[in-house]
Amino acid sequence: ETKPNNGIIADGEATAILPTGGKHKPITVIGTEAIRGTFDELCLQQAINSRTAPGVTDLVLNPDAHCGYGAPVGCVMVSPTHVYPGPVGVDIKCSMSLLQTSLPADAVIDKPTRRALINAICERTPTGAGRGQRNAPKSRRVDEALGRRVLVEGASRGVCEALGIPPEWAERCEDSAHVGHDDSTASLALRLEKLMPQMHNFAGKVTQLGSYGGGNHFGECEVVEFGEDDRSRRVADAFGLIDGGVAFLSHCGSRGIGHQLATGQFKALQQKFDRWDIPLPGQDRELVYAPLGTPEADAYLDDMALGANFATVNHLLINALVLEAFQEVIPGVTGRLVYFISHNIARKEIVDSRPAWVHRKGATRAMPAGHHALAGTPFAETGHPILLPGNPQAGSAVMVADPGAELSCYSVNHGAGRQLGRKAAKRALDQREVDASFDAADILSNCRQYPIDEAPAAYKDFDEVLRSVKAAGLASEVARLKARFVIKD
Ligand code: 5GP
Ligand code: MN
Ligand code: MN
Repeated sequence: ETKPNNGIIADGEATAILPTGGKHKPITVIGTEAIRGTFDELCLQQAINSRTAPGVTDLVLNPDAHCGYGAPVGCVMVSPTHVYPGPVGVDIKCSMSLLQTSLPADAVIDKPTRRALINAICERTPTGAGRGQRNAPKSRRVDEALGRRVLVEGASRGVCEALGIPPEWAERCEDSAHVGHDDSTASLALRLEKLMPQMHNFAGKVTQLGSYGGGNHFGECEVVEFGEDDRSRRVADAFGLIDGGVAFLSHCGSRGIGHQLATGQFKALQQKFDRWDIPLPGQDRELVYAPLGTPEADAYLDDMALGANFATVNHLLINALVLEAFQEVIPGVTGRLVYFISHNIARKEIVDSRPAWVHRKGATRAMPAGHHALAGTPFAETGHPILLPGNPQAGSAVMVADPGAELSCYSVNHGAGRQLGRKAAKRALDQREVDASFDAADILSNCRQYPIDEAPAAYKDFDEVLRSVKAAGLASEVARLKARFVIKD
């Protein structure tokens, strides 16, 4: 018997369930009919494998979902008893951040100014795999001792001061510092000490602090456009956004350090599964796990925290350097961080009245006004900003969660999501047409040729994705971001 729609059963315009049999609560699927048609078989199989894996109580598939490492990119996996490295991924705490400048949109109309800004930013924050401070003459120098503090302390006051990051920006982070498995910083320091002998070229990797890395990571100069309705304009104001102002959106993660920590964990856990002949969820080696309370889970949580702290300071430093670049080109401009929020991280949250690890794999936390976890933050009464990249041509969005986000374990997607793999994009798309489309939209780039596997057409229809999030009642749009130039590898 073949099931229509791959077994997905719609129960609303943009909500559906995917039953997995047995006593398992079904997978929650977010997406309009058009979006549900973008989930290929492997993506759905990965969702089922993840849903039925040991200790997992909830799985949400978001509109941007596509195949990932064990679990789909674009999913939320909840477990009160287990941690899963796959559904965090190799780029631990890959994140988005948004800097609002004091400039009006007019300031970035003329091309020479935009070119000067691109150059000033690239002199400080390099792009490309393996790139670091030696590729950026005006970057900050970070030695091994400061690097260790970054991993252990995250965006502490001392670390911010040492790097010239405004310390008040730490309040504008989903998490400014991650602690070890026992909620202490001391255990992170011990863990790093223990790891040091096997950390290949640690001193070199910490010099990647303040860089984007390659692939899909980017920096993008934006013009902010508020919506029409009063509520969204009030929230946009409260977030510190400026209608018609220039902002800067950054996307990157934990660079070589995070990659090394994550792959080290995969290898260690996969060896244990092999040695003990433990069955793998869906026979997928990328879905290895560790039960909480074991030394393996402790080690994973510590390594994730070390990588996450690097990613946090990396973003804050990039924002400080981008602001410095703007100031070099346009003296007198000021700027402040709107928010920094991850889409590749596991967090301890309360789900169904008990603590659980919420793994967001290409998914963004979405807590509305009044959510208990926002108490004491600047966003207790509004909900926190959700930074949602789309693509440079369709734009990106700042959103805020609605109470309906409880359905998705207080999460939304993390972007449009890929619809063409990198190879397929290179086959299907024409370089000249892609470059011409950027010229027509008057969006500049640091790349002589726009990377074709990153072209807007490689991603899903952003409007349909946004429609899904809104129709499912998860979040509302607060502002749109329109790209003026893009910095990519
Ligand atoms: P990921 O973290 O999975 O690589 O992707 C994040 C999201 O960023 C993608 O789903 C896509 O929607 C978005 N994105 C990729 N490249 C760009 C870009 O150059 N500009 C903007 N605004 N969004 C992008
Ligand atoms: Mn990343
Ligand atoms: Mn990312």
